[in-house]
Amino acid sequence: MREVFEVTAQDGAARIGELEVPRAGVTVETPTLMPVVNPNLITVEPSRFSEFGAEMLITNSYIINSDPDLHERAREEGLHEMLGFDGAIMTDSGSFQLAEYGEIDTTTEEILRFQHDIGSDVGTPVDIPTPPDADREQAAAELATTQERLELAETVDVGDMLVNAPVQGATFPDLREEAARHAYGTDLDLFPVGAVVPLMNQYRYDDVSDVVLAAKRGLGRDAPVHLFGAGHPMMFALAAALGCDLLDSAAYAIYARDDRYLTVHGTEHLDSLHYFPCECPVCSEHTPDEVERMGDAAREELLAEHNLHVSFGELRRVKQAIKSGNLMELVEARAHAHPRTLDGLRALLDHSEQLETTDPASKDAFFYTSAESARRPEVVRHHRRLERLSPDGDVLLTEGSGNDDFDEWWNVVPPFGPFPRSLSTTYPLTAETPDRMDRAGYEAAADGVAALADANPEAEFTLAHRGWPDTALDRVPARVDTVDIAAAD
Ligand SMILES: [Zn+2]
Repeated sequence: MREVFEVTAQDGAARIGELEVPRAGVTVETPTLMPVVNPNLITVEPSRFSEFGAEMLITNSYIINSDPDLHERAREEGLHEMLGFDGAIMTDSGSFQLAEYGEIDTTTEEILRFQHDIGSDVGTPVDIPTPPDADREQAAAELATTQERLELAETVDVGDMLVNAPVQGATFPDLREEAARHAYGTDLDLFPVGAVVPLMNQYRYDDVSDVVLAAKRGLGRDAPVHLFGAGHPMMFALAAALGCDLLDSAAYAIYARDDRYLTVHGTEHLDSLHYFPCECPVCSEHTPDEVERMGDAAREELLAEHNLHVSFGELRRVKQAIKSGNLMELVEARAHAHPRTLDGLRALLDHSEQLETTDPASKDAFFYTSAESARRPEVVRHHRRLERLSPDGDVLLTEGSGNDDFDEWWNVVPPFGPFPRSLSTTYPLTAETPDRMDRAGYEAAADGVAALADANPEAEFTLAHRGWPDTALDRVPARVDTVDIAAAD
């Protein structure tokens, strides 16, 4: 067991956890969002971060090391004093600069010692961030270098500073999984999924889903996972559903610099806003017009403050949803506000089997809110359960009422399909479903009928359905008799 991280609640792959940061003397509740601080360009003073709810920040030790003034101040005062922040501080190593500019002049040993010396609580070795879509040869060769650096990092004496073990592998799921397994085998503590910023900048959330879930397959449940560069609140629910525990936001400041205003649905430009669609102090006390007329520095600061408020508000919503067991419904709501987050959700649901392994068996309620609900882990689990159930004789599966002509009769509810009546008060069969069900729901129910029929070749089945579409009935095995009870009404 890794001693610094404990999962305390789970919903699908998402979890609430406690990350102990010994050097800072704090325990951070995850998922957490770390505002990124560029020490050369402070937009909101880190001493104010606790107003927004930040328990941890991230800054770049390479920038500090390369700037003579910052270097001296950091060595003399220490990072916490220099930034005026008494929560936990994570430092990056310059890998991002390596990706941007092609070279940096430091080594893993040097930069880890420097991070330790200036008082960082979580340090990072110099890994190689392979960009998405790199060819396999490059991705594999750079991954081998990253793995050497992680092994080197294990040997550097950094006291009780925690150390990141970045997981690379570009857009190759098998390399990501292998990288994660290797990283998890080291003594290092946290596991950032690296080099996903280009994917997020291009809103390729489906690729983000594939890459993160691949990394998760190689990591144990006690591995805290950081989605490096995930700063847009529109994807926090998705990131949590993928099982990410740490997120970081440079977006709050970078977007504010260009007059961009973050929302949970996407990004607005200040000059297109007539009203502020938000309840935070900035938006309650100002109009877009007023903010637009302000000087550059004041405008930037207020927009950055709003961006932080909306980000931490969404993070709290995500955490509440995990505790309530309805994160998937929040992910669906966010997904239906933007085609790219919808891609992310659909890619996530391609891995429902993986999510199912950590999904609690019982929750409060299942709300069917879109065709995507038909692919949730609960549906996958119910279908698997049907393969183990064995009704006898002549069996009626019905959306209506029972009939004495049969040996037994079961209920049928889309998207789950059939189930014994004794289970009708158990989760998820108590689901709230729309009266106007969509095709995906009927098709999933038909798959449930097929699973049951295939597992019980001796029994005879009749399906009494209410006007299922042909695309669903086509999925029901031919030996199952079907009758449309809606037509008979
Ligand atoms: Zn606001």
